[in-house]
Amino acid sequence: MKALLYERELRYVTDYPVPRPGKGEALVRIRYAGICSTDREIVRGYMDFRGIPGHEFVGTVVRCRGKASLVGKRVVGEINLGCGRCRLCRQGNQNHCPSRSVLGILNRDGVFAEYCVLPVRNLHVLPDSIADREAVFTEPLAAALEILDQVAVTPEHRVCVLGDGKLGLLAAQVLAEAGCRLTASGRHKEKLAILRKRGITTRQQNTLRGKDFDIVVDCTGSSEGILQALALVRPGGTVVLKSTVADPECLDSNYMIINEISIIGSRCGPFARAVEALQSKKVAVLPLISREFPLEEGVEAFRYALKKGVLKVLLKVDWDPIPLTPPAP
Ligand SMILES: [Zn+2]
Ligand SMILES: [Zn+2]
Repeated sequence: MKALLYERELRYVTDYPVPRPGKGEALVRIRYAGICSTDREIVRGYMDFRGIPGHEFVGTVVRCRGKASLVGKRVVGEINLGCGRCRLCRQGNQNHCPSRSVLGILNRDGVFAEYCVLPVRNLHVLPDSIADREAVFTEPLAAALEILDQVAVTPEHRVCVLGDGKLGLLAAQVLAEAGCRLTASGRHKEKLAILRKRGITTRQQNTLRGKDFDIVVDCTGSSEGILQALALVRPGGTVVLKSTVADPECLDSNYMIINEISIIGSRCGPFARAVEALQSKKVAVLPLISREFPLEEGVEAFRYALKKGVLKVLLKVDWDPIPLTPPAP
């Protein structure tokens, strides 16, 4: 199959073996995949990953060993694969299984290819009202919704989102929808405009002052963002960290203790609710798409995604009729 393969560099190949679904797994034909910041880090060596990157996708089940009724269904998929046996997995927390693999990130080929394999339990069937280009945002939108599972946000809360990248724009919309006194901030006028159009208050990030916010969500992907979040949150307030690339040394534990600040790490979130949010059209994702490339031009798509000011870049995997049986592996 066609795929983007990362070994020491990213390249496009046409002879990668089609993965075979094991028991309880489905073979999914990819329709669209999204390039996210994690993928950009992976092709710079993050996680020491080797193989096919990519974890944001929408596809069609073409073969299934476990639930035949899924064949032909359009699906999105959760990216963490737990062992299914440890205490965390048994508690339904496979996202944190110590021996998990993660689609396109850790010990498991991802979705920048014609096919991928995922366990049936990871898949969510999409309603027809969600377009492919919207569905590809399910994973990052779930990550934004995770904030609401971790912090009780009320209409009185003054909440600030730092960062106007893809995750920041999704987090701001999710928090606005939840109801709170929200300020979204970033460095790019044109990106903040996407939020202003939806009635969300926005500020240039470098003009924010004071310790007024009950909750600050850092989506900047930088150490400076974490420092700014700590500077903006009120004593007794909460900082939600969404950035994984930052330097951990910037967290000053004395400051957090003296001011009794709660720090919450936040990663993957609830897929079912993300699908619902896309269906309700209460979160606008299409304005976040900067450009679309065919899979064949994936290497160039990555180069483009690295450019300043670019939001979501999609890879389209072209195929005409829905093949109900994949080509012989
Ligand atoms: Zn992602
Ligand atoms: Zn486990």
